[in-house]
Amino acid sequence: MSIDPARGITLRAAELNARLRSLEEQLAAIRNARSDATADDEHDPEGSTLSSEWSGVEGQRADVARELAGLGTALERVAAGTYGICASCGRPIPPARLELLPGATLCVPCASGR
Ligand SMILES: [Zn+2]
Repeated sequence: MSIDPARGITLRAAELNARLRSLEEQLAAIRNARSDATADDEHDPEGSTLSSEWSGVEGQRADVARELAGLGTALERVAAGTYGICASCGRPIPPARLELLPGATLCVPCASGR
């Protein structure tokens, strides 16, 4: 193989960790804004905006955390020599798919439930 999968995974993980940090900072900022708003507020027009902003950012954070967990599994598979092999049918996962989703453990037909 010409590409080193562990390197791609590590780079992607570094990128995701940076995003995770910035999302957590945003969540902390929203939390502060929200507790200020609750502290001196009577009718809560801003509260709901902050809540929907919160769930948007929290959703992104969950996605990033999930992908990071998948990358951890992918690294274990590299070490075990099973990286790039579909966990379900045992056929190779196309490199283009791995490039897009370094944490993929299923080939396209298996991932789509066929
Ligand atoms: Zn498969």
